[in-house]
Amino acid sequence: MKFETIPLEDKQHALAQLREVKGLFASRGWFAGTSGNLSIRVGDYSPDRFDFAITASGKDKSLSTPEDFLFVDQEGKPSEATRLKPSAETLIHCEIYRLTGCGAIFHTHTVYNNIVSELFWERKSIPVDGVELIKAFNIWEEEAHIDIPIVSNFAHIPSIVPEVTERLNPAIPGIMLRKHGIYAWGANAFEAKRHLEAFEFLFEYVYKWELLKRRS
Ligand SMILES: [Zn+2]
Repeated sequence: MKFETIPLEDKQHALAQLREVKGLFASRGWFAGTSGNLSIRVGDYSPDRFDFAITASGKDKSLSTPEDFLFVDQEGKPSEATRLKPSAETLIHCEIYRLTGCGAIFHTHTVYNNIVSELFWERKSIPVDGVELIKAFNIWEEEAHIDIPIVSNFAHIPSIVPEVTERLNPAIPGIMLRKHGIYAWGANAFEAKRHLEAFEFLFEYVYKWELLKRRS
């Protein structure tokens, strides 16, 4: 499907949703120093052909301007004429869409997600045991155990992509970049938001639980 054939209202709907989520997450302090990025897919999907709206690079995400978002294709290249640059981490979004076919991806840097990624870096995953909020990921077993994958963080973003390809676990809708931030995704914006909020809750839980254990 060519970008030009995607109905305008579908594109506007994606932008309106991004604006709403951006405002909400900004109010929680989840975009420190212009960090973080958000995207929502539009139009038809096949793993080698799709488009999505994504936050533009280097903008203050607590503000709302006409330059906050642009549309890019499966290679992270702008889908239409624009002076805006996509977020530097767009290639990670491209790879997650390609691997999962999801509808939205939200990425935040927080102190809790950074600390727990370092705490468990040696085992390359963050373990979570039996916490109720694991159900937010549609995992319903009692006392479920999950491992949230952690991958290396490189300044050169294309070098991160192969590890995402290798480590992404379809049962866990998120992947953590070491001392950087979480990428969470879902079938749509509502689900991606639920997943991201659940991850952040679990990271805070794990951090505090580790602190208590280490004290005693
Ligand atoms: Zn980031």
